[in-house]
Amino acid sequence: MKAITEMPIGRWMVTEVFILSKDATVHEAVSLMSEKRVSSALIGSKEKPLGIFTERDAVRFVAKGKSAIDEKIKDHMTSGIISVDEKMTFEEGIHLMIEKKIRHLPVISKNKVVGIVSGNDLMKLRYELLAEVFHNTRRELDKTIKLLKKDSNQRMKTILHEFEKMQTQAFTDSMTSLYNRRYFENRLSEEIHRSDRYGYPVSLIFLDVDDFKYYNDKNGHQKGDYVLEGIGKILKQFNESEEHHNEKLRRSDIVARYGGEEFVVILPYTDYKEALAVAERIRKKIKERVFEFEKEQPQGDLTISAGVASYPDMAKTEKELVAFSDKALYLAKKQGKNQVCCYLTAVNSKK
Ligand code: GH3
Ligand code: MG
Ligand code: MG
Repeated sequence: MKAITEMPIGRWMVTEVFILSKDATVHEAVSLMSEKRVSSALIGSKEKPLGIFTERDAVRFVAKGKSAIDEKIKDHMTSGIISVDEKMTFEEGIHLMIEKKIRHLPVISKNKVVGIVSGNDLMKLRYELLAEVFHNTRRELDKTIKLLKKDSNQRMKTILHEFEKMQTQAFTDSMTSLYNRRYFENRLSEEIHRSDRYGYPVSLIFLDVDDFKYYNDKNGHQKGDYVLEGIGKILKQFNESEEHHNEKLRRSDIVARYGGEEFVVILPYTDYKEALAVAERIRKKIKERVFEFEKEQPQGDLTISAGVASYPDMAKTEKELVAFSDKALYLAKKQGKNQVCCYLTAVNSKK
């Protein structure tokens, strides 16, 4: 559709044109215009327009005094009126009026005045058009803003998602998909702080695969990796299992791969006795699992040993908790592997 500004000006003309003879007086002109309620009248004829008399001309006469109203309009009219073809566009018409400082344009079609366009009408329309453009632009802008907001929410979600993924990766051991050592260390610090604040115990289990070097040497590193993956799965399943939860022991344990063939379990709200029981169940689970080539292991089985220590009744610091459970693990190895030892036993056995 054509824009309004491109449409022919004839669309907006008033076709009722009032004619005054060139001998008419100002009084007659003003009377006609006020009676007909128009702002202009054509002088001459539609076929031969001589000029146009407008309300502005009338005002000028009135300003001259009473006597002026009997003067003839032909002596004052501007000769050579500016008229336009009906096909002239709305925008061209407006520009012409502004340029020539006129407010009325007789519109000619086939050599005859067919109407008069008033600048006031055009301006009013133009204002309405601009208002419409403004409203449309505003609506479009609102829509765009909404879309942008939605888009940035979406983008923010994606960034957060990526960030979470990166964070997860940074704290995950890729082989077992358990937490890694970095995460373990962070969490252990947190749990120790929480323990200090709320006064509950935290226990730590250190696990180590028995004779793993032997297994690797015999079966190759890759088979060794499968074993570690398998142990990772067992630990994960165990931590999520009903059996574990049913014990009424809190169950927000943190299982991590400490490194190599060593794993750790942080047990918040858990004293060493409960922790020993958990470690023992884990040991059994792994012993019962059938691993490839395990019959050829020195003990005819693939097993783990574990050491347990607790905070704050044994260890007084976070460092000690790690060192003490490692010590307990060492004792378990020394005593023949495939068993769980508590730090207390380790200490007493030294004495
Ligand atoms: P112990 O019963 O006293 O624990 O003896 P061990 O042989 O298990 O202990 P040792 O510390 O002598 O050897 C650990 C072996 O674990 C050596 C190392 O090659 C292997 N290992 C460590 N990390 C990985 C791993 O990611 N994949 C594989 N396949 N082997 C690993
Ligand atoms: Mg080891
Ligand atoms: Mg080992």
